Amino acid sequence: MHTMANEMMQAVRLHGMEDLRVEEAAIPVAEAGEVRLRVAYAGICGTDLHLFDGWELEGAVTLPPMPAIIGHELSGIVDSVGPGVERWKVGDRVTVQPQVYCGDCTFCQRGNPNLCSNKKKITKGGAWAEYMVVHERTLFAVPDGVSLQIAAMTEPMGCALRAVEMAELQPGDNVFIAGGGTIGLLLANLAQARGANKIILSEPQPIRRALAAEVGVTRAVDPMNKDLPAVIADETNGDGADVAFEAVGLAVTSEACIKGIRPGGTAVLMGVPKPGTTLEISPWEIVSQERLIKSSWLLVDNMESCLRMMPRLDLDKIATHTIPLAEANEGIRMCKAGEAVKVLFEIGGENSS
Ligand SMILES: [Zn+2]
Ligand SMILES: [Zn+2]
Repeated sequence: MHTMANEMMQAVRLHGMEDLRVEEAAIPVAEAGEVRLRVAYAGICGTDLHLFDGWELEGAVTLPPMPAIIGHELSGIVDSVGPGVERWKVGDRVTVQPQVYCGDCTFCQRGNPNLCSNKKKITKGGAWAEYMVVHERTLFAVPDGVSLQIAAMTEPMGCALRAVEMAELQPGDNVFIAGGGTIGLLLANLAQARGANKIILSEPQPIRRALAAEVGVTRAVDPMNKDLPAVIADETNGDGADVAFEAVGLAVTSEACIKGIRPGGTAVLMGVPKPGTTLEISPWEIVSQERLIKSSWLLVDNMESCLRMMPRLDLDKIATHTIPLAEANEGIRMCKAGEAVKVLFEIGGENSS
């Protein structure tokens, strides 16, 4: 379907805190260097929930001018290309890395474009809509054998894969993961694929704990009223985990990850904390045990590796709910209540054209 500039589409727009509306919006037009996609599937991400809640975290969660179409995890089919675009053609199946980097600042030059000081979102509006326009450089081809539904999870998988690489996870490692949301379960699935020994996961929601076993978790525990470092020690002959991942963003789980690793172990923090969160931990507990604390933010150059690895993982189990755009508020509610893991909007579906 080809559409004119003044035609309208269905979109989900954030008007302010906790004010998300399903409404009509103008279909964007691809200009020079840009590509318009018919969105196939789009995910609800933790940071979308933070925007909905009105959080502001410098450099990470910044409220766009309202009203705004949000959503940055997606797959789609190329619908039209702007002047000068030669790499992509109508009908191509694609996914998007939602942020681009300047390439010139110190951090880009050092190989850390995720820390770019001039980073900006270059999409004209987000993915929770029938159409979206992005810069051609942000696109990645979805290989045959990967559904568009699963390809919509490439960006969160890239974030999890980066954290696994930061942790230098080795076959045989005992792993602790705080959080059984999308990122936590992706971490488990990736750790299993790397040959981890035990994978212990903490998650308060029973639905998510039940799912954990299907993506490689060997023991899923309810963290409420539990001493997590003691649980981890119990599972690892008293040593502690070789590697721990924090995928919640709470102080208590961050501290559990740091205290739950063995001497010389590595904790990777990646959950997005509520503004004002601070940790209480004695430096002595870190220094005297040579605990290595790292962090992982966004992804770097791994969208293609993720797309290649997808057929060998269990992402279909992590994508627990597929709903229409019209049910956006219910999708947000389910995510916040922990009743779902990854909620995807089915917009154009597998045959979006
Ligand atoms: Zn995301
Ligand atoms: Zn830069």
